[in-house]
Amino acid sequence: MARVYNFSAGPSMLPESVLRKAQAELLDYHGSGQSVMEMSHRSKWFDDIIKNTEASMRRVLNVPDNYKIGFFQGGATQQFAMVPLNFMTTGTADYLVTGNFSKKAAEEAAKFGTARIAASSKDKNFTYIPDVKAIDYDPNASYIHICQNNTIFGTTFAEVPQVEGIPLVADMSSMIFSEPTDVTKYGCIYFGVQKNVAPAGMAVAIIREDLLGHSAKGIAPETIPTMMNYTTLLKADSMYNTPPCWCIYMTGLVMDYLEHEVGGLEEMKKINEAKAKVLYDYLDSQDFFKNPVEKPYRSRMNVTFTSPTPELDKAFCAQAAEEGLLNLKGHRLVGGMRASIYNAMPPQGVQKLVEFMEKFRKENA
Ligand SMILES: *Cc1c(COP(=O)(O)O)cnc(C)c1O
Repeated sequence: MARVYNFSAGPSMLPESVLRKAQAELLDYHGSGQSVMEMSHRSKWFDDIIKNTEASMRRVLNVPDNYKIGFFQGGATQQFAMVPLNFMTTGTADYLVTGNFSKKAAEEAAKFGTARIAASSKDKNFTYIPDVKAIDYDPNASYIHICQNNTIFGTTFAEVPQVEGIPLVADMSSMIFSEPTDVTKYGCIYFGVQKNVAPAGMAVAIIREDLLGHSAKGIAPETIPTMMNYTTLLKADSMYNTPPCWCIYMTGLVMDYLEHEVGGLEEMKKINEAKAKVLYDYLDSQDFFKNPVEKPYRSRMNVTFTSPTPELDKAFCAQAAEEGLLNLKGHRLVGGMRASIYNAMPPQGVQKLVEFMEKFRKENA
């Protein structure tokens, strides 16, 4: 059986060595006589799994001791509500709208207080990131929210907002672990795992301790639904109820892979930069395919491009699929194509894509 190159925005590819490890351990995890899919979340085996997963995540991302890490169900979308419910203590927060997910996050936050749109890049269809130093932030904002890599539009922040006394909250779903991150710049980092980490079914939040124990203005802490209360869930070490055990296990295997096979996030970054360069260099070398993003904000994870017509876009995706290059159709809001080249996409996959693009160009230009 030949494995395909899957350019899906998520769920997306996992490292083959991780899948093989999971396969090898599937029926009998470490002599337990059970699969991780079957075992009690209160068993000693699972207790080791969740503790080791958290510990290796701390090492890989260099998470300081004054940050808690939580494993939650509900995806990144549920975090859009949990963030304001738990952190909007002044009744207002600043949102930078740089794409569809940050827009959704702001809309969700508006249910619990004022979600002030401090900046937006809608004027140019989200093809750039506003200058974070030139934004007029509200001094009364409980936090500043960004979506650091815009999965749909293929943009990424070159630098992040830093305002004394106002914590930065970042949705990093489609770029987490793609490069080193200075966690101390953030009050909270959250991400759905199905883009760059693990199978679908879990979000992770990394939260600075002093932000815990509060709630949105006008909402008593005890009336936050239990499963949306960071403080309660983290006090129970993400085991208030049954956690997403399999996702936690797979996340642990991916952390091992990053730490021991890749050699850490500096190495991962080099690989990702090289992959993105191959694709963008090709895009810049010809006029048939176009990438709409302003260069300083080009995403290294999600690369968008169009051919001259929607009909050719369609033909491109269909013919690419026949070559084992899957899920290249762009999001309906952007059209055209999108190649998601997360950590697990091998460099050969990008090389093969560029070769196919050139062949298609020659045949259709
Ligand atoms: C995919 C994605 C989401 C939504 O994630 P779910 O886990 O499906 O809720 C949110 N934000 C970003 C940046 C994403 O890429």
